Amino acid sequence: MAEAAVIALNTQLKKLGNASSLHSAGRSVRKDLEAAREGIAKAITCEASEVIFTATGTEANNLAVKGLYWKGVKENKKVIITSTFEHHAVMDPIVWLAEHEGAQVVGINVDSKGFIKLDELKQAVSEHAGEVALISIMHANNEVGSIQDIAQVVAIAGQIPVHADCVQSFGKVELSFKKLGLTAATISAHKLGGPLGVAALILKKGLDIEPVLHGGGQERDLRSGTFNAPSIVSFAAAATDAQANRKVREQTVRGLKRELIQSIKKSVPEAQVNGDLEKSLPGIVSITFPKTDSEGLLLLLDAEGIACSTGSACSAGVQRPSHVLMAMGLSEDETTSTLRFSLSHLNTINEIARLGSVIASVVARSKAASGKK
Ligand code: PLP
Repeated sequence: MAEAAVIALNTQLKKLGNASSLHSAGRSVRKDLEAAREGIAKAITCEASEVIFTATGTEANNLAVKGLYWKGVKENKKVIITSTFEHHAVMDPIVWLAEHEGAQVVGINVDSKGFIKLDELKQAVSEHAGEVALISIMHANNEVGSIQDIAQVVAIAGQIPVHADCVQSFGKVELSFKKLGLTAATISAHKLGGPLGVAALILKKGLDIEPVLHGGGQERDLRSGTFNAPSIVSFAAAATDAQANRKVREQTVRGLKRELIQSIKKSVPEAQVNGDLEKSLPGIVSITFPKTDSEGLLLLLDAEGIACSTGSACSAGVQRPSHVLMAMGLSEDETTSTLRFSLSHLNTINEIARLGSVIASVVARSKAASGKK
């Protein structure tokens, strides 16, 4: 966690009072909470009233997708347009709506670099004119880092509400809710140096969607539950810190990523980088090491003190080929020979050098053990 976020969390944890209570302790916490809301709003350029705090990005995605769908259904709109390589926290609620609530799903394909095919999107929008409840397309992909042209998606959508999962991009690259013209955006604290278990849905002012949780009526009646004030205040501190230092950190991390790729390519010339290096997140890189087994690679690197991931960490523990890489045209065999490295501004060039010094032997050992032809 960012130092500012740790300090904010520790300070707030010691404060007494429920932000919804009317006594002065409660009102004091409420003041901190509203200041945090303003901090988040400033960092993503929206109005404070458009920030709805949730516990996780998964929850915010569920609220956006289900809430906008149920709103659409009231106007007889049952089509959901989405990409074929969303995070499970968007993909699975959409599948659930299709299986239980009669949603008709249109999947927009991505190209080999991880960019959605905008002409397919245009066609889907015109083919289903008047029937679309929402479009949900992620801003930046968590496995390969590609950044979508969301402004273009919004332009194509016209009057259709557009939700973007911005969990990976918020605080890492330029992101303005207002400038993009989004209806809804999901952000999550733990991706930018904030605590676990706090996130937000940014939802256009005045829009009434169906809530997923019912109860005390907090957050415009859209997300009931006692405010997690310490985490929310800490989230805002992390977001403010990330935003204030974004440009410098972005350059640093991009530099580290270039070094990492060069160093790996030098030791393992057959390694293949997946996705685009420019229109992508500074710190995420996906690399296929042909004929290896990614789980074996991960464990061998772990033994060297290097932590990386085989696919999306969110679905780790479940060994299945990455739907993201398959959507980009990789074979099942290639997806299980792929690692994802995530870098932050706190990584160092020495750490990259260390990876470079062990990767060739790690790859050779994994190849020998994998039995892949
Ligand atoms: N969306 C994306 C793109 C993610 O990478 C993640 C988590 O890694 C999520 C959503 C889920 O967010 P959370 O972990 O806050 O539930």
